[in-house]
Amino acid sequence: MAAIDDVLAERAKQDAKWGEQNHDPILWSAILGEECGDFAQAALHARFGGDKAQGLHDEAIQVAAVAVAIVECLDRTATRKAQERKCPHCPCKFPLEEMYGWVCQMCFLATPPPETASV
Ligand SMILES: [Mg+2]
Repeated sequence: MAAIDDVLAERAKQDAKWGEQNHDPILWSAILGEECGDFAQAALHARFGGDKAQGLHDEAIQVAAVAVAIVECLDRTATRKAQERKCPHCPCKFPLEEMYGWVCQMCFLATPPPETASV
């Protein structure tokens, strides 16, 4: 389908330009809103005349591509949260992190890194 192919091509362009984008939903809302504004401007120019009238298709593709980027980001966030490691030594809720040497920042007990933890 040509439309989906165009959206995927736009996603590739976005990644090449910006890299992987992991924003909070409020910032994503602003980015998507900006693209919706571009589409609205093109629609108004198409109706009443203006230099953006020819951009209707491209702006719709950019709206769809940003929406796809949002879904990708939400999926990455969900995957990261599912993979978070919690301290097995105390009831704290803080995730263990490599930057702290897998040492719990509440009880200060170490946990083996993920590569060797499940042996
Ligand atoms: Mg745009």
